[in-house]
Amino acid sequence: MKITAIRAYRVELPLHEGTYRWSGGNSVAVFDSTVVAVETDAGITGYGEVCPLGPAYLPAYAEGARTGIREIGPKLLGLDPRDLGVLNRRMDAALRGHPYVKSAIDVACWDILGQAANLPVVTLLGGRYGETFKLYRAISQEAPEAMAARVGQYRSEGYSKFQLKVGGDADTDIERIKACAAQLQRGDVLIADANTGWLMHQATRVVDAVKDVDVYIEQPCMSYEECRAIRERTQRPFILDEVIDSLSAVLKGYEDRAMDVINLKISKVGGLTRAKEIRDLCVSLGIAMTIEDTWGGDIATTAIAHLAHSTPPELLFSATDFNSYVTVSTAEGAAQRKHGLMAAPTGPGLGLTPRMDVLGKPVFEIK
Ligand SMILES: [Mg+2]
Repeated sequence: MKITAIRAYRVELPLHEGTYRWSGGNSVAVFDSTVVAVETDAGITGYGEVCPLGPAYLPAYAEGARTGIREIGPKLLGLDPRDLGVLNRRMDAALRGHPYVKSAIDVACWDILGQAANLPVVTLLGGRYGETFKLYRAISQEAPEAMAARVGQYRSEGYSKFQLKVGGDADTDIERIKACAAQLQRGDVLIADANTGWLMHQATRVVDAVKDVDVYIEQPCMSYEECRAIRERTQRPFILDEVIDSLSAVLKGYEDRAMDVINLKISKVGGLTRAKEIRDLCVSLGIAMTIEDTWGGDIATTAIAHLAHSTPPELLFSATDFNSYVTVSTAEGAAQRKHGLMAAPTGPGLGLTPRMDVLGKPVFEIK
């Protein structure tokens, strides 16, 4: 089997809530997502998606994903897409770094491998654990009372894990965490995600003020070293996200006991092949994970579902259903949230069928 063509589609994904806000005054109203189709000479086409959280969240941006795919795409024609190790080595040789550029291509090739094997990707990634897995809900940064009201609203939709977007003014963030904590019921999980937004003195004030609150602290500061210093100043369970961008970052954090949980974002590490390496290492080391991505619609969410559902439940802290935040559906058969839970599709590959009328004409084709 050979790759004969790679196409990229640009899709706009508006949010049900209008705007998503996080630290540093950052916000997105309409996501700019890229869906990649990898076509083969065997009549099988695979799909993947990459959708950065705007240009200011990670070193990644939507037009950069497309530009990078244009750069490496011609060097992948003729490869067997089922040879995922060979494919990833070729991508790394063609473009140093820029893992997010490679992610949708890698996912599309997993989709092809699954279709060729007549098995769902969840089986190829290790097998399905149980019927469903639990999701978290991100709560966009607003006034404390408004965020507290969202906790009740989203619990009524079935969620029990709530990730607050903080990383703003420290006094207001303390109010946000306390107001939301007051809404919790037994079994709920509360996470305060600063998305690198605090300086060390601000983070120190916040973790001290919430020392008696049952809350997880996520990525308080920009650098690994700053986060580690804050970790030593708090007894709260600790999550690292933005700085966990590779296998070596996980190993460093493990050696330093720098975190209890990591957030594993598929596109941040370059696709399902790399994410599986990190997931399997974390399983061996006993590090819990939130399995997710930077954002996306049906296709990115379904890739998350296959990786999350093949992760031992005690190591799967949570996962994300990005397709229920956005108003546009790009595929039939995608993983869908049901009462705060999700499951990987059962069909071959990713188990979905893209809506070509929504994807429209490709922005480019490499063949
Ligand atoms: Mg985070």
